[in-house]
Amino acid sequence: MTRFIFITGGVVSSLGKGLASAALGALLLARGFKVRLRKLDPYINVDPGTMSPYQHGEVYVTDDGAETDLDLGHYERFTGVASRQSDNVTTGRIYSDVIAKERRGDYLGATIQVIPHITDAIKSFITNDLKDEDFVLCEIGGTVGDIEGLPFLEAIRQLGNELGRDKALYIHLTLLPYIPTAGELKTKPTQHSVKELLNVGIQPDLLLCRSDRAIPESERRKIALFCNVREQAVIPALDVDSIYGVPINYHQEGLDDQVFEHFGIETKAPDLSRWSDIEDRILKPEGEVSIAIVGKYTGLRDAYKSLSEALDHGGIANRVEVGLQWMDSEIFETSDTIEHLEGVHGILVPGGFGERGSEGKIAAARFARERGIPYFGICFGMQMAVVEAARNMAGLNDAGSTEFGPCKHPVVGLMTEWMQEGELQKREAGGNFGGTMRLGAYPCVLEKDSRVQGIYAASEISERHRHRYEVNTNYREELENAGLKFSGMSPDGVLPEIIEIPGHPWFVGVQFHPELKSQPFDPHPLFTSFIAGAIDQARLV
Ligand code: GLN
Repeated sequence: MTRFIFITGGVVSSLGKGLASAALGALLLARGFKVRLRKLDPYINVDPGTMSPYQHGEVYVTDDGAETDLDLGHYERFTGVASRQSDNVTTGRIYSDVIAKERRGDYLGATIQVIPHITDAIKSFITNDLKDEDFVLCEIGGTVGDIEGLPFLEAIRQLGNELGRDKALYIHLTLLPYIPTAGELKTKPTQHSVKELLNVGIQPDLLLCRSDRAIPESERRKIALFCNVREQAVIPALDVDSIYGVPINYHQEGLDDQVFEHFGIETKAPDLSRWSDIEDRILKPEGEVSIAIVGKYTGLRDAYKSLSEALDHGGIANRVEVGLQWMDSEIFETSDTIEHLEGVHGILVPGGFGERGSEGKIAAARFARERGIPYFGICFGMQMAVVEAARNMAGLNDAGSTEFGPCKHPVVGLMTEWMQEGELQKREAGGNFGGTMRLGAYPCVLEKDSRVQGIYAASEISERHRHRYEVNTNYREELENAGLKFSGMSPDGVLPEIIEIPGHPWFVGVQFHPELKSQPFDPHPLFTSFIAGAIDQARLV
């Protein structure tokens, strides 16, 4: 029997609903239950693929090629359950599906309305594509009170009714702000937020109360009284040092016990030893390395969420703290600035789009190559390393990527461009911008005796992609003769997936996004190896 847990948020945004959902998923899993986590986003974009990382943080890509909300990354990292296309939906997707059905005449002349047509579509999304899951955790994006969230709240209200209280649970995440002049934590915003939920017919069963300090018993009682829940159902969610401390923290506060009590399920105590081990490794590192991330969206951490997590996982695996230095690549486009990279133990150029800042990334790749500093190029970071190698190792002065316009030596380009002998035929020219990329999991064959084959300890791997451009195999021979090895290729040998520089302490570029598959308990081998390389570098400087 599948039970549904709906998670809403109130008072303010950014309370960490995604993390709270992921942590609860981890706790249910630790009791031996099968879980699935889903996110319903009320915005009108069909998916976050076309949204600026500054607006919405990173786009998380699933194996089946969906461009989704970054919260799905938290879900996977905390539970190890691979997300699918069917785990994230937006208002835009729901409406476009309903409108497409209406155009096909599927509604047989009915007037299409928010209730029941839109709410039906939302409900069928929530209950669709499930097999033997014990729990489906469904997070509603945004904050209670948002106009655009109303159809989603209405849909989960209806679903709760249809399923019955023994199969549905509502958790509401709120904030208790501390007012220094009063010297008190305030419960009124929580009361208002619950009232807002009651307005749409939802009585929350559990309240998760974010707070920066302990919540006095008297305040818990007050919240319980005013919000019509039992006192034990008011669960403090205090700030913790590391996100991986959240599951244990929630468990200690009784969150999972309350969930099982609600459903009337008796279970054994969860085994949380692996979480305490992770926490221990994070809180007691045996050293530190400093990694420069040379990118474009360095002002907003969420833009590189999975990346910074994966680097942390590499640190966990090596028992070191990974200090991240975020650097805007544009600073390396003027002279004498490259010294900023002096002293770092590793340089990582992450994924990116567009010409702005690209010369700075090329300069960073060159610095790493020439100075023997570990270099990890991811997607765009690999492409820029190839451009750098073409220019400065193979002597192709005008090498570039056609992403920035035509050039003499397109070492990176759209497949169609280099297959038609210089005749520019833009893939999707003038067409839709959304959904035109190589997306999702693709296999890659690793070259025998290459560094990456050693790192993965495998001969074939599968990794997730999100890009339009590819490294041009027409230049393979020239680049290999100059010392850049193509060490991972698509099985048909057409698409370069990994490059490396033999003889360099650690220089690897990958066309895919390995950070999307790294988990605290299963750190991605490339990140583990890169951080190990950085540790070696730290011993040298
Ligand atoms: N802009 C590059 C491309 O489209 C790289 C994309 C990325 O780094 N995700 O191929």
